[in-house]
Amino acid sequence: MGLMEIMKRYHQIAIDGPAGAGKSTVARKVAESLGYCYLDTGAMYRAVAYKALVEGISLDDEQAVTNLAQNTNVCFNRGDGRSVFCDGRNITTHIRSTEVSRAVSVVAAYPGVRERLVHLQRQEAAKGSVVMDGRDIGTYVLPEAEVKIYLTASEEERARRRYLENLQAGKVSSLEEVLEDIQQRDRLDSEREYAPLKPAADAYILDTTGLPAEQVAEKIVSIVRRD
Ligand code: C5P
Repeated sequence: MGLMEIMKRYHQIAIDGPAGAGKSTVARKVAESLGYCYLDTGAMYRAVAYKALVEGISLDDEQAVTNLAQNTNVCFNRGDGRSVFCDGRNITTHIRSTEVSRAVSVVAAYPGVRERLVHLQRQEAAKGSVVMDGRDIGTYVLPEAEVKIYLTASEEERARRRYLENLQAGKVSSLEEVLEDIQQRDRLDSEREYAPLKPAADAYILDTTGLPAEQVAEKIVSIVRRD
C-alpha cells in the first residue's frame, strides 16, 4: 500500500500562510485541542538551510543543496512537537537565526529539496492524525486534508509579531529589518515555480489581524468539528 493510501486512515488539518501569520502558535493549539500531532514543516526547510550553512555549501548550488537534502533526516519529538532533530542532533535553537531565515526560501525553491521533505512529511501523516503547517500543505502535501486553512494578517502585524518573538528570544532586530525580511521571504515563496505559497481552492481564509491566537485556534477547531 502506498503512503497516500495509508494517510487516508487518519485525520489531516492543513494550515498555510505567509511568514508571521501565527501558523505555528495556532496549529499547536489546534493539535492540542484535537489530540493530533503537530508538524512544523517550515522547521524542516530551516533544518536543510542550517545544515547547508554549517557545511559551507553555496546556496546557489542547486545540485549540492539537493544532494544534501536527500541525505538529511529531519524529525521531531512527537511528544512536544517543538524539538527538531537533524541527523539525530537537536538543532531547535539554531534554526530561527536571521541567517537561516534569510537562506531558507532559497533552498525551499529547489524541487529536489521539496521532494525529499514532502516525502518525510507524508511519512509523518501516515503514522497518525496531524495538524501540519507550511506553505503548500493544502495545495500539495495533503491534498485530501479534511480542513484547509489559509491564515493571513496585515504585513505590519506579521512583522510586529516576529519582532516581539525575536525580543523574547533575546535577538536584537529592528522592526524595519524584520518587515523587509518577511517581505523578501513572502516574495520568494509566492513567486517560486514549484509549490508556491497560495491558498488551496477549498481553503478557509482567515485574517488574524488583531485576533489572539487562542480565538483563531477555537475558530479552526469549530470548523473541524462542524465539517
Ligand atoms: O514556517 P516558517 O516561516 O518557519 O518557514 C520557513 C520557510 O520554509 C518559508 O519561508 C518557506 O521558504 C519554506 N517553507 C516551504 N514550504 C513549507 C514550509 C516552509 O517552502 N511547507
